[in-house]
Amino acid sequence: SQVPFAVNEPVRTYEPGSEEVKSLIATYKKMWKEKVEIPMVINGKEIKTADKVVMNSPQDHQHNLGFYHKGDMSHVDDAINSALAAREKWNNLGWEHRAAIFLKAADLIAGPYRDRLNAATMIAQSKNVHQAEIDAACEFIDFLRFNIEFMTEMYSEQPVSDSGIWNRSEYRPLEGFCFAVTPFNFTAIAGNLPTCMAMMGNVVVWKPSDKQIYSAKVIMEALIEAGLPAGVINMIFTDGKETAEKVLAHPDFAGLHFTGSTKVFQNLWKMMGDNIHTYKTYPRIVGETGGKDFIMVHPSANVEAVATAMVRGAFEYQGQKCSAASRAYVPQSLWNEVKEVMIAQMKTIKMGSPEDPSNFVNAVIDKNSFEKCKGYIERAEKSSDAKIVIGGKCNDSKGWFVEPTVIEASNPRYESVCEEIFGPIISVYVYEDKDWTATLKLVDETSPYSLTGAIFSQDRYAIDEAYKALENAAGNFYINDKPTGAVVGQQPFGGARASGTNDKAGSKMNLLRWVSVRSIKETF
Ligand code: GLU
Repeated sequence: SQVPFAVNEPVRTYEPGSEEVKSLIATYKKMWKEKVEIPMVINGKEIKTADKVVMNSPQDHQHNLGFYHKGDMSHVDDAINSALAAREKWNNLGWEHRAAIFLKAADLIAGPYRDRLNAATMIAQSKNVHQAEIDAACEFIDFLRFNIEFMTEMYSEQPVSDSGIWNRSEYRPLEGFCFAVTPFNFTAIAGNLPTCMAMMGNVVVWKPSDKQIYSAKVIMEALIEAGLPAGVINMIFTDGKETAEKVLAHPDFAGLHFTGSTKVFQNLWKMMGDNIHTYKTYPRIVGETGGKDFIMVHPSANVEAVATAMVRGAFEYQGQKCSAASRAYVPQSLWNEVKEVMIAQMKTIKMGSPEDPSNFVNAVIDKNSFEKCKGYIERAEKSSDAKIVIGGKCNDSKGWFVEPTVIEASNPRYESVCEEIFGPIISVYVYEDKDWTATLKLVDETSPYSLTGAIFSQDRYAIDEAYKALENAAGNFYINDKPTGAVVGQQPFGGARASGTNDKAGSKMNLLRWVSVRSIKETF
């Protein structure tokens, strides 16, 4: 039952002057002016309300993009009821039919929807052309296609039988409805969380981040055009806390698929704990939360490679990836050279609106994020434990722009070395070369997270030492590469500790969470 589709979607390069880039930028400009109206989608119907929330763009906070229709708790009830009403038919539909719907959705996104989905991601989430392409187009398409292949592989995994006995595993959907809570920073994750649960036969209530609603709309349209039946995925725009309280108190709630902050995830887990006696079945809980991702540099490392990894790992998408490099440990013997190459690279970086594809850095997502970054920068300027190496300017006159910033901290426990900032700021701690082994320990101990991390070295013994010392410090471990940009089917993504349940996105390990297996023994 193998589906022969799972190869990674080729990434478009959008060369300056190419037809590809002209078409994408033309779509961006058209959508920028359009004044979009975005309804919720419940039971396959567009739901409009009197509560119209105006949307602005991070790169121009006075520009009105249009509005979305905000719902209240009656819409949460409707979404749950619509999911439950769709459940029986969807549960019993053969996997080939579910696969066909999501394969068609992948094709639609690869083709006619690509520019619109990328442009929505650029406009409302402030990603540049390339960051939108690797996320909204390629990674989402890969999630859909690879998950279908993983699903069929999983279904074909069966226990051994003997003569007179036939043992079977039946991969049933969860008994109830699922809840997807998705973040602003990856359109692909917003698309993957509800679709991978639905693919496995589940019905879903999906609450996207209110910063990602524009691209969520395009995803929903592609799914509907691909033939997703009414009620299978219900998309609501409602207050996060109240919604969670309602959804997680429902006796038929059966699974949470979450990406977002550690704090919110822990609150949701507490709510589930409080309701545990009322559920029909124990809910499945999958969460990907924060990160404080490291680059650990050995004295044998290649300087160019380190500097490039720091710049790209820390500043692509303004550092708003859970995987972003946000702390680096550099030996004294290499620091001057690394700094020089890094500064030279950073001087070529342009910051501005994604409308101009040569702008590598765009705006951070909103005022809160801007203020948070500014706070870390201002405190570093004043601190005796830290100093700004380069960057540090913040400008909110038009959009939420924070200059890529390098902080050098003399104290490895300084706040910006240990806390998640989620912005274009990397902190560097320079260690004495003789303290390499002790510094590995620091890397492991000074942050509660364990999402991604990179070791740079040309010495195989040093690589091995770091590999062992940091075995629990990163769910995705990179050797001589930046810690971002995991590719579906190549590096299953996720981490443990305060970074999540480590049920690797884009893998069979994740899909297994959304089935409830019935083991069947039949004797003849
Ligand atoms: N998978 C992404 C990467 O490897 C990060 C996802 C996230 O930020 O949640 O860069």
